[in-house]
Order: sequence, then C-alpha cells, then structure tokens
Amino acid sequence: MVAGALRHRGAGRAAWLAFAAGIFGNATGILVEGYNLHVNAEYESPGWADLGYLSLYPAVAAGLVLLIRRRSEGRDWGALVDATTVTTGLGLLAWVFMIRPAVTETGLSPLAHLTGVAYPVGDVLVLAMLTRLLLGGGATSTAYRLIAASACLFLVGDVTWAVLNTIGVEPGPAAHRLLGAVFLLAYVLFGHAALHRSAALIGESAGAPPKLGPGLLVLLTLASLMAPLLLLGQIAAGEVTDALPIAICSIVLFLLVVIRMAQLLRQLEAQTARVRQLSRTDELTGLPNRRAWNAELPAAVERARRDGAGLAVAMLDLDHFKRFNDEYGHPAGDRLLKSAAAAWSEQLRGTDHLARYGGEEFIALLPGADTGEAVRVLRRLMTATPLGQTFSAGLAQWDGAETSDELVARADAALYEAKRAGRDRVEVARRPAADAQPPATDARLTPR
Ligand code: GH3
Ligand code: MG
Ligand code: MG
Repeated sequence: MVAGALRHRGAGRAAWLAFAAGIFGNATGILVEGYNLHVNAEYESPGWADLGYLSLYPAVAAGLVLLIRRRSEGRDWGALVDATTVTTGLGLLAWVFMIRPAVTETGLSPLAHLTGVAYPVGDVLVLAMLTRLLLGGGATSTAYRLIAASACLFLVGDVTWAVLNTIGVEPGPAAHRLLGAVFLLAYVLFGHAALHRSAALIGESAGAPPKLGPGLLVLLTLASLMAPLLLLGQIAAGEVTDALPIAICSIVLFLLVVIRMAQLLRQLEAQTARVRQLSRTDELTGLPNRRAWNAELPAAVERARRDGAGLAVAMLDLDHFKRFNDEYGHPAGDRLLKSAAAAWSEQLRGTDHLARYGGEEFIALLPGADTGEAVRVLRRLMTATPLGQTFSAGLAQWDGAETSDELVARADAALYEAKRAGRDRVEVARRPAADAQPPATDARLTPR
C-alpha cells in the first residue's frame, strides 16, 4: 500500500498513507497475538495486540475523512445529514447489541472494559465516514469500490465477532479460520485498491452530489425507524433495557429528518426560481423572451389604466437580416443580435422593457411615453444599432381602452407598413378603428 501511495501523485496520496498505517497497525496486532500464543504460549486480553488492532479505526477513518474532503467541493450538507442519520440509526443498533453489553459486562478490569467498548465505537466511527463518503457521490473507480468493500468486510468481521461474543458462542477452529479469512480478504482488497491504476483518481472531486434515489430513501427510512423498531423489539422481549438511548436517538433522528426536509425545500425553491428565470429569458441575448413579454404587457396596460398614464409599444425588426447572415455567417448574425440587444438596452430607462419577440424581432414597452417621446427613443436605438445595421419599427400608442393583444397587433401592422415603405424607419400606427383616423398611419417618420 505504501508503494501504491508513493507511486500515485494524485490528490489522494495522504489518504492512502493513512489507510496503509491502519492496515499495518492491524496486521501487527495479528503478529503480536500470534507471537504471544505460539512462542510465549499465553493469551493476553486485553493486550498489546489490541492496540495494533484498534489502530485500524482512527487511521482508516482519517483516510476516509481526507478522501471526503478531497472529493467534495465545499460542504455537502445533504450528504452530511444523510450520513449522520444512517450513523445514528446504526449507532443505536451498535449500542444495544455491541457497546452496552461491553460496558455492562461484569468481572472485567477497567482496561478490558475500555478495550471491549473501543472496537464497536471504532466500527461506528468507520461506518460514519464510509457512509458519508459513499453518499457524497462522484466517480466510483475500481479503487474506490475496493476501499468501500474492504471497509465493509472489516465491519462485517467485527459485527460477527461481537454477535458471537454477545450470544456467548466460542467459535471452533474452522469458524476461527473463516473469520480470519474475512479480515485477510479485507487486507487484500485494500492492497489491491492501492496498487490499482485508478488509485490515483480516488481523491478527485466528486462534482454534483447523487440524487435522493429510492435506495437511499429506503436506507434513510430504515435508519430513521431504528429507534422505534428497537423499542418495539425490547418491549416484545419483555424488558426495555435502553429507554434513554432510544429516546435520545429518536429525538436526534426526528431533527435530522426535519433538517433534511428543510434542505430539500430550500433546494426546490432555488431550483424553481432558476427554472422560472430561465423560462423567461432569451438564451442568446439575455433579454426577456416572448413568454416574459406576454406576462408583462397586460400588467403594464393595467398599470397605465390605473395611473391614467401613456403607454407606447414598439415592434422592431432588423432589416435584411437574412442577407447579413448570408454574407457574414450565422454566428456573426448571432453576435449582432446580442450586441444590438445590449446597445438598445443601454438606451432605455429602467422602467422600459425590451424583449426578444422571436428571430430578429424585438419589442419595446415604454410606459409613460407619448408618441413623440417614443419616436425619440426609437431614433436613439437606431443610432445605437451596431455595424451600421438598420431596423424598421412599428409604434403603437395605447388608446386607453384596447386590450394588450390589440395594441401589439397595431404595432405589428405599423411595422409591416414601415417595411413596405422602404425599411430603416419608424411607422406610427393609426388609432384603432373606433375613432377613425386617416388610413394606414398618421405619421411617417424617417429617422436619418
Ligand atoms: P426584412 O428586412 O424584410 O425583415 O428581411 P429579413 O431578411 O430581416 O427578414 P426575414 O424574415 O426574411 O429573415 C429573417 C432572418 O433572420 C432569417 C434568419 O436567418 C435570421 N434569424 C432569425 N433568428 C436568428 C438568430 O437567432 N440568429 C441569426 N444569426 N439569425 C437569425
Ligand atoms: Mg428582418
Ligand atoms: Mg422578421
């Protein structure tokens, strides 16, 4: 493993060294125990061997923390809460079946007590870090999967020992070997992971956290239900031995679920706002799009009606834009649309609205403007249009009664007139039919 760690120059090297230290310590424990047993013919429990075995937990946990740090950009609160939930649920399980029995076992020295408790506590520690790592998402290389599998094997081996201890079964030589093989396999997997060519990638940033999929939801549900399930189990068994830990974990799990819900809700709100913004913005120019316009115009008409103020709507269409595209290429056309939109926006007041109506057509809303002001604004826009490009515009003044659709239809008709009259001009729409005015338009204005 050290060889592997030194060979890879990737971001995860420190983690590999921590893992190597843990495995080394654990394997040294076997050596010490074997020496005592076969050379000194004595079995000391607790003894120096335990120190070696136990060093696995802080070292592996530290390695996992280093990986988590490396793989996540900033804090991933969701994964943190999920991992805490799973750890609390399984930690309670560990308390009931592993830790409390070790704590309350009678006839042991304080050191033996401490040692007995240290193993399950170490398991919970590694489990917590492993869960956090797995829930952080990101690339799952072979080395990553091997580490996870190895850590799981250590946990399985420990739990099996603990269960055998709790029910008071002393495993025979064959079972002993089998259990030994579980830890041996865990070593092999860790070593294989360190030497695998994907080992260097282990600390690469994870990117987006994984979704709250069905598998994770089942896991979180089970973890959250752990406290009441254990309580039911103890009631069924006739004696509630862990009322206080169960109550405390119930509270913690409830709070974690609420925190997770609040997180998801905030995430949802942020996403909704983002989608709403995207759905109303034209991607190319960054202007409000037609959807946004359709929502804004009736409101503007309503405001004008309430305030008794003027309201002008102008429809703009670039002249011979197809020709521009043909001549300079479509990307250049795109750039022109973008720069024209930016230049026009600069010429407008904060209360005015400019939207991309479609293609090379734009629409401007000028609240409070009378026809003369609106024409002056449009002339400014004409001067500001980049690359000598021209546009034609149809201008319609709200008559105080018509609907927003009728207003836009009049601006559109005036635009058509402006095109027909030779382009590069503003045409003012005639007033609606009700107060009949001269045909077609009541003003012809050439801007330059
Ligand atoms: P007119 O003066 O009569 O308006 O002529 P025109 O060529 O501008 O009008 P027409 O409706 O025939 O063609 C509009 C052109 O606008 C065609 C299309 O290639 C171009 N266009 C529309 N949307 C985009 C766009 O997003 N990017 C680019 N580059 N061109 C676009
Ligand atoms: Mg055009
Ligand atoms: Mg057009």
